[in-house]
Amino acid sequence: MGCMIGIDLGTTNCCMAVLREGVPTVIPGRQGHRTMPSVVAFADEGPEMVGLIAQRQAVTNPHRTIYGVKRLIGRKFDDEALQRFQAMVPYDVVAADNGDAWVQTRDDKYSPQEVSALLLREIKHCAEEFLGEPVTEAIVTVPAYFNDNQRQATKDAGKIAGLDIRHIINEPTAAALGYSTERGTDQCLAVFDLGGGTFDITLLRATDGVFEVLASNGDTFLGGNDFDQCLFEHLAKTFQDEHGHDLRDDPVAVQRLKEAAEAAKQELSTTETTAVNLPFLAAGTSGPLHLKIDALRRETLEELAAPLLSRLEAPCRRALDDAGISVGDLDQVLLVGGMTRMPAVQRKVEELFGEITARDSNPDEIVATGAAYQSGIMSGQLQDVVLLDVTPHSLGVKVKDDRMSVVIERNTTIPTSENKLFATTRPGQDYVDIEVYQGEHADADRNTYLGRFTLEDLPAKAAGKVTVLVTFMLDADGVLHVTAKETETGNNASVRIEPSSGLSQEKVGELVLYHAS
Ligand code: ADP
Ligand code: MG
Repeated sequence: MGCMIGIDLGTTNCCMAVLREGVPTVIPGRQGHRTMPSVVAFADEGPEMVGLIAQRQAVTNPHRTIYGVKRLIGRKFDDEALQRFQAMVPYDVVAADNGDAWVQTRDDKYSPQEVSALLLREIKHCAEEFLGEPVTEAIVTVPAYFNDNQRQATKDAGKIAGLDIRHIINEPTAAALGYSTERGTDQCLAVFDLGGGTFDITLLRATDGVFEVLASNGDTFLGGNDFDQCLFEHLAKTFQDEHGHDLRDDPVAVQRLKEAAEAAKQELSTTETTAVNLPFLAAGTSGPLHLKIDALRRETLEELAAPLLSRLEAPCRRALDDAGISVGDLDQVLLVGGMTRMPAVQRKVEELFGEITARDSNPDEIVATGAAYQSGIMSGQLQDVVLLDVTPHSLGVKVKDDRMSVVIERNTTIPTSENKLFATTRPGQDYVDIEVYQGEHADADRNTYLGRFTLEDLPAKAAGKVTVLVTFMLDADGVLHVTAKETETGNNASVRIEPSSGLSQEKVGELVLYHAS
C-alpha cells in the first residue's frame, strides 16, 4: 500500500504536499522549487519535458509547449470558452472524434487527460523520491465551478499516471481547510483566489471542524495572464513607437515579450520600478533592434491593469448576496494564487472586504496543504474534521419544450440525494430519455449537457398517466449518479453520468414535471 499525497494541479503551477504525523510538508520538484510550472513540452523526438525544463524552452519551441491544459480538460471543442482560449495560446487545439477538445502537437493528438497525466506522473515521481516510498493515491483539488465532465476527466488523468485519485475537493475548500486546521478556530472565511487564468471567490463557514461552503462565484477569464497581456501590449507598443516595427507576428519575439512582461509584473510586486531589457528582438534595416526600458513603474502597471482590477468587484458582491451575508460577518479573507502578491490586488481586496486579510498563509501552497490535510482525514490520521462541500451548479433534466427542470439546486451541500417525479407527455409512450444538464438557464440547451440514458418498457397508458421518479445522487467528489424508476412497475435504469461524448440526438421521448394533484 503506497502513500497518499495532496496535489494542487493548477492551471499555471502545481504544488504538492504530504501529511506526516499530522504536519503538512510541501514536496519540492526536481529542481528544488516548491511549485512546478504546469507545462509539458514536446521536442522533435525523444521524451516529453515536464515542469520547469519545459517552461524554460518555451521561447524556442512555442508551438509544442503546452500550458494551461487544465482549461481544456473535460471540455468540448465547440465550447465558447475554448475559442477564446485558442486565441491565447500558440499551440493548436483540435476536435477529437468524440468532439472533445484535444491538443495537436508533433504529429499526434493528445487528450488533456494525457497531458495532465504527464504532470501527475512527474509529481508522483518527485514525491516518491522525496518520501522514499511508492505514492499510489492522491487527493487532487479542482476549481469549485468544475463540472462533472471536468472532474471525471481529472480522475482519468490520475488513472493514466498510475495514481488513484481518492477524492477530489474544491480548491477554496482546500485552502480553508489548510488555513483553519492550523489555526483551529471557528470562522467565516472568504477565499479570494486569483491565479494565472481564473478568479474565484468563495465564502465558507468553518464550525467545529465542519467546512460549509456558503457561496462561490468568479470569472473564468480573469487571471495573471491578463495582467501579463496588458504589459505585453505596452511593451510591444513602446517598441513599435520607437522602431516602427510590429513584433506581434514573430512568435519567438512574442514569447520573449510575454515572459519579460510576466517577470516585470512579478518584480513590481516588491519594487516600485523595474528595467526591461530585451536585446536583438528584431532585425531592422540598419542592424538589430533592442527593447530597453530603464524604469518601468508600478504605477504604470496599475494604470494598465485598472480595468482588470475593477472586474474583481462584481463576483465578490454576487457571492456575498448568494451567501446572504455582509462583509461584517467575515472573520478572515484568505489570499490564494500568485496574483494576490500584487499590491494593487491586495488593496482591492481590502476595499471590498475591509482589513481582515490573513497574511500568515502562503498563497502558493495553502491549497496543496489543505489537500494534504484531506488525505489525513481520509487515512484517519486527522480526526474531528469533516469536510462539507457544495455543488456550484444546478443539476436537472430536460423536460417538455426543452426546459430545464432542476433536481439538485446550486449550492446544495454534497453528498446529497434528491428526487423528482415526472410524467409522460404522449399517449402510449413506452420509453423516456432522461437527459441530464447542469447550469442555471431555464432553457436546457443553454446549460452544459452531461449525458443521457433511456428508461424502456413503460406501461402503455394515456399521456401523463405514467410517472417516473428520477433520483440524482451527487457523491462527495461531486460526481453525479442518476436513477429513474417507473413508479407502477418499479422498472428502473441507472447511470453514472459519463462524460458526454457527442452522442447522436435521436428522437426524444419528452417528459414533463409531474404535479401530484
Ligand atoms: P494557478 O492557480 O493558475 O496555477 P498560481 O496561483 O500559481 O496559478 O498563480 C500564477 C500567477 O501568479 C501567474 O500569473 C504569475 O505571474 C502570478 N504571480 C506569481 N508571483 C507573483 C508576484 N510576486 N506578483 C505578481 N504576480 C505573481
Ligand atoms: Mg490555483
